[in-house]
Amino acid sequence: MSGLPPTLTKVIESFSKFPGIGKKTAHRLGLYVLKSHSTEIEELAQALLDVKNKIRTCNNCHNISEMELCEICSDDKRDNLIICICEEPSDIYLIEKTGYSGVYHVLGGLLSPLDGIGPDDLHLDSLMERVKSASELIIATDASVEGDATALYIQKIIDTKSIKITRLARGLPVGGHLEYVDEATLTRSIDERVELHS
Ligand SMILES: [Zn+2]
Repeated sequence: MSGLPPTLTKVIESFSKFPGIGKKTAHRLGLYVLKSHSTEIEELAQALLDVKNKIRTCNNCHNISEMELCEICSDDKRDNLIICICEEPSDIYLIEKTGYSGVYHVLGGLLSPLDGIGPDDLHLDSLMERVKSASELIIATDASVEGDATALYIQKIIDTKSIKITRLARGLPVGGHLEYVDEATLTRSIDERVELHS
């Protein structure tokens, strides 16, 4: 970027790496930083560092958390008997908007042999432990090849006689991630979840 001091160019380049931020917006944000009060920028810089340094994963469900247990796992009003299995912590945020009151288990990915992601790469051991004290597992993986393969695998390793396994109802876009599903559709697909049988 010609004509701009290197320090400002660096800030603009950093912003342009953010999702959804084009060059023009990055430029505007950079100039905004320059004009802002030092305290405001110090607060922003500290908040960014805190996100990186203070957030870990929940010991129980692998959601993001600042504590050993995330807010959902430590909330005694949640229904611990129902566990919703998701790919990433960001899925929890989406499902929470539907009013779901059970708990979660984050797999940390989906099975994808082509990408070299096998069962050992997912949080399945801890899931097997938790299943012992649950009555229903809701598999909320995407309606994609990987999402289907993962659901099938979980269904295979868990004894369906001792626990009910359900999957989000169809109506979710095929191949699409949950984040592209509107709230009403997601709520409906949880309410109308279908039982899987082995
Ligand atoms: Zn948790």
